[in-house]
Formats: sequence, structure tokens, C-alpha cells
Amino acid sequence: MQAALAEEQPAEVPCGDCNACCRTAHVIHVRTEEKRTRTRIPRKALLPALGLPPGNLVIGYDQAGCCPLLVDGRCTIYEDRPLACRTFDCRIYAAADIAADRAAIARQVERWRFAHPSQDDRDRHAAVMAAARHIRQHSECLASAAARRDPLRVAVLAIAVHEAFLQGGTRASGRESSDRAVARAVVAANEKLFGDC
Ligand code: SF4
Ligand code: SF4
Repeated sequence: MQAALAEEQPAEVPCGDCNACCRTAHVIHVRTEEKRTRTRIPRKALLPALGLPPGNLVIGYDQAGCCPLLVDGRCTIYEDRPLACRTFDCRIYAAADIAADRAAIARQVERWRFAHPSQDDRDRHAAVMAAARHIRQHSECLASAAARRDPLRVAVLAIAVHEAFLQGGTRASGRESSDRAVARAVVAANEKLFGDC
């Protein structure tokens, strides 16, 4: 997930036959630079992305909450699907110990179990959960009410800032200063990944 957030590689989720995130009323962001993806999407399925610079578009969903590109249970533009779809990884809810807010995804999330082959794996998983708890307890770090209510955003931010919760990281250097450092890290990650603060 860290690599996906850094746009170094897509999330490689073993989804199997699941397509829950294509039919649970997600608005999919399509960036200006995703030119090939845009050529694959029918014009009528693309809408302006409110609050983002011109050129940013979104794919909406139908009355049943399904993406219009989902046909017979399959994504019709899978090879060229938007970056937002490539980087979505429902395992982050399980990793951060946060309940998904969509029932079909929550059912998938319950499937995941993590192996921790090394101490570093155990430490990082504990740090991700600690980061998620901290962000929820200090949700004032997130300026918008919508962001504070969004469990996906909290889980993504927990992955992004978890290193501050590793032993020997920022948390070890005094509570007040570490809280400020974590708050700054959350605000910066939120701005970078979601475009608001
Ligand atoms: S909900 Fe999870 S398992 Fe299902 S399609 Fe989305 S990412 Fe894959
Ligand atoms: S574009 Fe494809 S992968 Fe993305 S939500 Fe729509 S059907 Fe799913």
C-alpha cells in the first residue's frame, strides 16, 4: 500500500471474484493526466470533479451504486482502469482495525488475515493500528467534517504516517512534541493524498 500511495506500483490485491468496490457507490476520480483511461470511458460517464482544478473528472455510479464500467460483473476497461481503482486496497481497513462503511466491502475485509514473518512486520502492523487510533482521537487534524467521517481516509492516512508510531520514531521523543509532529504529518499526508487540509 505504501508503494501504491507513492504511485510506484498498483496495489496487488488478490480480489478473486470480488467486485465489491465497483458496486458500492464510490465516486472514482480520473486525473487530468490519465489520458489513456479517459479515451476508454464513454463521455456521458464522466463528470467534472467538484472542488478540483479543471480537467479533473469523476465516474459516478447508477441507482444501484454500480460503476457504469462494470458489465456482467467485470470491469470493461480493466487494463486501463483509473489510478484510483488500481490503488484501492480494502486490506487497509483490516490492517488499521477500522470498520469499512460499506457492507459489501466490510464482508471482504473480514476475510483478511495477516502473516507477520518478522518482528518488523509485527511492529509496523502495531504502528498502523496505533496511528489509526491516534487520528480518530485527534480528528481535528482533518479540517473537513467529511474527511473526519471517512474511515477509508483514516485508514489510508494511518498507513501513510505509521512510521511516526514505530518505537524510536517521533512518539519516543516526548508526548507534546510528538503529538505536534504527528499532527503535522497527518495534515501533510491528507493534503498530498486527498488535496485538502
Ligand atoms: S472490496 Fe477488496 S477484495 Fe473486493 S474488489 Fe475491492 S479491493 Fe478487491
Ligand atoms: S472503472 Fe472498473 S475497476 Fe474502477 S470502479 Fe469502475 S468497474 Fe470498478
